[in-house]
Amino acid sequence: MSDIIRLLPDHVANQIAAGEVVQRPSSVVKELLENAIDAGAKHISLIIKDSGKTLIQVIDNGKGMSMTDARMAFERHATSKITNANDLFNLHTKGFRGEALASVAAIAHVSLKTKREEDDLGTILEIEGSKVTNQEPVVTPVGTMLSVRNLFYNVPARRKFLKSDNVELRNITDEFHRVAMAHPQVGLRFTSNDTELFNLPSSNSRQRIVNIMGAKTNEKLVPVEEETELVTISGFIGKPEFARKTKGLQYFFVNDRFIKHNYLHHAVVSAFEGLLKDKNNPTYFLFLEVPKDSVDINIHPTKTEVKFDDEHSLYAIVRASVKHALGQFSIDAIDFEKEPQYEVPYEYSKKNTSLPKIEVDPDFNPFSNGTVSKKQTPSFSKPAPQAWESLYTGLDETSQLLDETEETLMAPSMFEEESISRNIFQLQRKFIISTLKSGMLVIHQNRAHERVLYEQLLKHITVQRGTSQQLLFPLRLNLPVDEVAILTQLQEQLEQTGFIFKTLENNLVEIDGLPIQLKEKDVPVVLEAVIRDSELDLPKESFSQSDRLAATMARGMSIKSGESMSQEAMENLVDELFACKESELTANGKKVFVNITGESLNLKFN
Ligand code: ADP
Ligand code: MG
Repeated sequence: MSDIIRLLPDHVANQIAAGEVVQRPSSVVKELLENAIDAGAKHISLIIKDSGKTLIQVIDNGKGMSMTDARMAFERHATSKITNANDLFNLHTKGFRGEALASVAAIAHVSLKTKREEDDLGTILEIEGSKVTNQEPVVTPVGTMLSVRNLFYNVPARRKFLKSDNVELRNITDEFHRVAMAHPQVGLRFTSNDTELFNLPSSNSRQRIVNIMGAKTNEKLVPVEEETELVTISGFIGKPEFARKTKGLQYFFVNDRFIKHNYLHHAVVSAFEGLLKDKNNPTYFLFLEVPKDSVDINIHPTKTEVKFDDEHSLYAIVRASVKHALGQFSIDAIDFEKEPQYEVPYEYSKKNTSLPKIEVDPDFNPFSNGTVSKKQTPSFSKPAPQAWESLYTGLDETSQLLDETEETLMAPSMFEEESISRNIFQLQRKFIISTLKSGMLVIHQNRAHERVLYEQLLKHITVQRGTSQQLLFPLRLNLPVDEVAILTQLQEQLEQTGFIFKTLENNLVEIDGLPIQLKEKDVPVVLEAVIRDSELDLPKESFSQSDRLAATMARGMSIKSGESMSQEAMENLVDELFACKESELTANGKKVFVNITGESLNLKFN
């Protein structure tokens, strides 16, 4: 049998190796920005088209390259940054593998223009799929301009794996943010499809964070400072109320390099213990300076994971310094843990739970023939709804009550035969109870409202524009530029629901009108939910964009558990719910109500 092992042709080997470094447009952005930083640039421009799929261009005013170096830069393992393995433990640069440019050149059309201070002329170099197609002298300013066009043009499988433009843009923005935060002294600009998303002047760390995240961030930052032998920590944590459900604003930098570190993340989270509402994530921007030889950044090709010598001590120091910072600003745990509307109202919590009064007439004789006077009848005085509520204040979860009861999901047809009587009351500020001839209906107020709003909003988005309530004064919100850009993309649909936008540019959102069902105070929450949701990469088929927008807005706008509702509001909601096309489930498939039949109650008393 003949031998079977062959060497792969260079271009195949290059493409495979490239896959390690370049998974998506944002990987290219990261490598190019880091090269510019390593070259000592004071200003860097990032320009992309179609989320980097068509063009990624980075222009810096760094030290540039000689003609020979320009050529060498694209060879695999060609680097000016280390000369031997020991240098790995004394890195002063972001790059060191000498792989990035070679990888990018293997899978894209690349053009490089570069010039050093000391040279009269610069160099232009063009490469396609690792082959140099042109190299000549050129007039160009000091620094380097690298353009990457048609990424993955020769690796269709990879191109196919790219996510939607929104998601890839988000990834690129994330990389841009990381580099920008790690190097506040470097001026940075970011332009996407001819729109300038960021223009960040050279500044200090705090200003940089605020310039990226929006002016409102400033008041939410609490500084963290700690100096020990092992590590110097600086940066900021977000006040607990700045925490949000979605992950995201969590940044660790080690020696100016963005890293991910689950263990240290845990240290921060545990320092916030008790200060955050359920499942909210703390915000932090923490910069750790450690001795260069106490950290190994060599364990992962994309270099966001690192290994420290003494992780346990580091954990303790990070945790303590965050706690210290939180304490210094005397943020009282109790203030943030409780949300007033979820609390048992004061008068209820102090009240002894009292049972409904039973009046017993000791003289009552059921066998006597005499007319039974009303007074003699054993009667249960009917408790007012509020008294009923107080009965349950000791009960943690109403589900306890429901779990013991047979639940049957009511078929909508049941309503054709029996109407809901107007005997409606609220239980635990979470459920609406309504009696039926056949038993009772327990309606989840939040989900019911969500269902109603979802159907209304979907109709407005797709068929008939919703009514707007004009605001007396325009509502102004400062959001990061990329988030405003997302709203711009959704502007038409949002306006269909009733929003009237006066301004949607840079980091300013001005709103003149709101959907009639939306309360002004809920606007930031609803828009934030819409933005977060658009960044999730859900399969397109599962839900149309209109569907998603309606569902997300409905969730944000709906009456929450814990809110008390007037009799009239409850009646309207129940009517609207059963006028819906689908009343049983929310847009996300959650049960809206249960029907407890008289029969199942009878069984309980057996
Ligand atoms: P690494 O950054 O790991 O050294 P790269 O493939 O990213 O590897 O770059 C190869 C070399 O090209 C670098 O070591 C550097 O000398 C040079 N280089 C790359 N980008 C620039 C730039 N923007 N300005 C100056 N030199 C650069
Ligand atoms: Mg590099």
